[in-house]
Amino acid sequence: MKVLIVGAGIAGLAMARALEMNGIANVVVERQKSSPVTGKSIFLLGNAMRAMSDLGLAEEILQIAYPVASQTIMSSTGRILNKVSTREFWDGCGPCVSLLRKELLATLQNSLRISETRFGATVTHTMVRDGKREVMFSDGHTEEFDLVIGADGVNSSLRAEVFKTVSPIGLGLTASRLVTDLSHGLEGWTAMLTRGRSLLAIPLGPDRLYLYADSPTSDFRGGTVAELKNLFSEFGSPLGRVIDAIPPETSLHTDELREVPAGKYLAERLVLIGDAAHATSPSMAQGAGLALEDAVVLARRLKGEPQLGVALELFHLDREKRVSWVRKQCHVRDRMRTSSDLISHLLLSTVGSVLYSRAYRPLLPPL
Ligand SMILES: Cc1cc2nc3c(=O)[nH]c(=O)nc-3n(C[C@H](O)[C@H](O)[C@H](O)COP(=O)(O)OP(=O)(O)OC[C@H]3O[C@@H](n4cnc5c(N)ncnc54)[C@H](O)[C@@H]3O)c2cc1C
Repeated sequence: MKVLIVGAGIAGLAMARALEMNGIANVVVERQKSSPVTGKSIFLLGNAMRAMSDLGLAEEILQIAYPVASQTIMSSTGRILNKVSTREFWDGCGPCVSLLRKELLATLQNSLRISETRFGATVTHTMVRDGKREVMFSDGHTEEFDLVIGADGVNSSLRAEVFKTVSPIGLGLTASRLVTDLSHGLEGWTAMLTRGRSLLAIPLGPDRLYLYADSPTSDFRGGTVAELKNLFSEFGSPLGRVIDAIPPETSLHTDELREVPAGKYLAERLVLIGDAAHATSPSMAQGAGLALEDAVVLARRLKGEPQLGVALELFHLDREKRVSWVRKQCHVRDRMRTSSDLISHLLLSTVGSVLYSRAYRPLLPPL
């Protein structure tokens, strides 16, 4: 079988790895000239690490990642509302870790042996002809494939071309992300919330911290460090202190949060995976996890089912419930984050651990 994967992000590279493990050669095209380095850092929950284990890469990731044993949510004044032991909750599924995105991508890319990655290339058009997917590339040449897998992210051009009107929906929140060199003594995942504004810090090592900040899109003008300091000036210790200490020259990655409308992104000899099929807000930290799982499950179906159309339908059925659960939980969390402090603080301080368990328990059983 000849497979084309469009996009060398987490989903595309994991897909290439999973296909290789099942003896299926593939070509990956990435529109950027070299491995994409967007988004700074990533938090992988237990199910994402289990998928890395299915890809035979968990040990390698553990060598470079930082363990995240707890998740603590505080008010903007620093009052603890809820603390969960991620180590205990995800025990038996996989560890929770944080690492730089570029390190995760490099681990996936370096694991490939027979896949061919073409950088600086993209697909301009695709159609079914004589029982194959004919693909026209940006350099003008055409090639035939048995299957095209779109892993080209939230703004997927394959989704736009093949499924027509499906554009991502803005969620009204904009997020800035950065990595800073001081850990400020923070040990676990730590978030501080006040109505519509969230600050989150995750250690990446003993002296490196990932900081995520979101706020209504209307608050953002240029996405600068000075703006960030201003937006979160009322936040107390510990994260207010972290924001105060950020050097002005620190590089920020700022984007509006968007989601892809629910849908069945299957066509003849074509399927979408990862953010191209189901980008959500990052409230559940499941984007990478779902992308890695998609790759594992799709490769298994392609290996196990001789009829391609049936394999793709089975893949869709395998993933539909989990994906819609995560999307729903993101909506619940986003609503809670933007509700009044009275409601969100009361909920988190009384039933926060129950809500955590309810949201993540369905992701614990094996794929
Ligand atoms: C603010 C924020 C924080 C997040 N934090 C987390 C987190 O902590 N944990 C987590 O699990 N998830 C997190 N996520 C979600 C996670 O980043 C995504 O779900 C994940 O990156 C999806 O990977 P992907 O490969 O599907 O898409 P992408 O990472 O977007 O990769 C798509 C790739 O396709 C390429 N491409 C695009 N168009 C074309 C084309 N036409 N031709 C060729 N190549 C193309 C792009 O250049 C890119 O390399 C976060 C998301 C946001 C917005």
